[in-house]
Amino acid sequence: MKLSHIEHIGIAVNSLEESIPYYEKVLGLKCYAIEEVKDQKVKTAFFKIGTTKIELLESTDPEGPIGKFIEKRGQGMHHMAFAVDGIENALQEAEEKGIRLIDKNPRKGAEGLDIAFLHPKSTFGVLTEFCEDRNK
Ligand code: ZN
Repeated sequence: MKLSHIEHIGIAVNSLEESIPYYEKVLGLKCYAIEEVKDQKVKTAFFKIGTTKIELLESTDPEGPIGKFIEKRGQGMHHMAFAVDGIENALQEAEEKGIRLIDKNPRKGAEGLDIAFLHPKSTFGVLTEFCEDRNK
């Protein structure tokens, strides 16, 4: 498979409103987009650093994936996303190599990217996302 860079790091937070000032006023980054992803029951805020983004994730539903994550483990790093060329092939290759997939087929994520997750039980505890920007 062909990974080009870390596309983003996803961080679960209780509140975008409370956490954005840390990234802006302490780290000096700029929030350039806020977007709700209904499918994943989250509101996201994006920052850019080099070619990598930081994606803050606030749950919009306690039963959603981020709501459950925070309840179990508290706020903090939630996942790491690699930019990949040919997401279907990458998923197939990972599965052939014995990795458990959460998404067998890509779905639409924030910013119109095609995304799919690998199960953290197969990836040494890091929830891993592949994403591909086919709008380029
Ligand atoms: Zn992500």
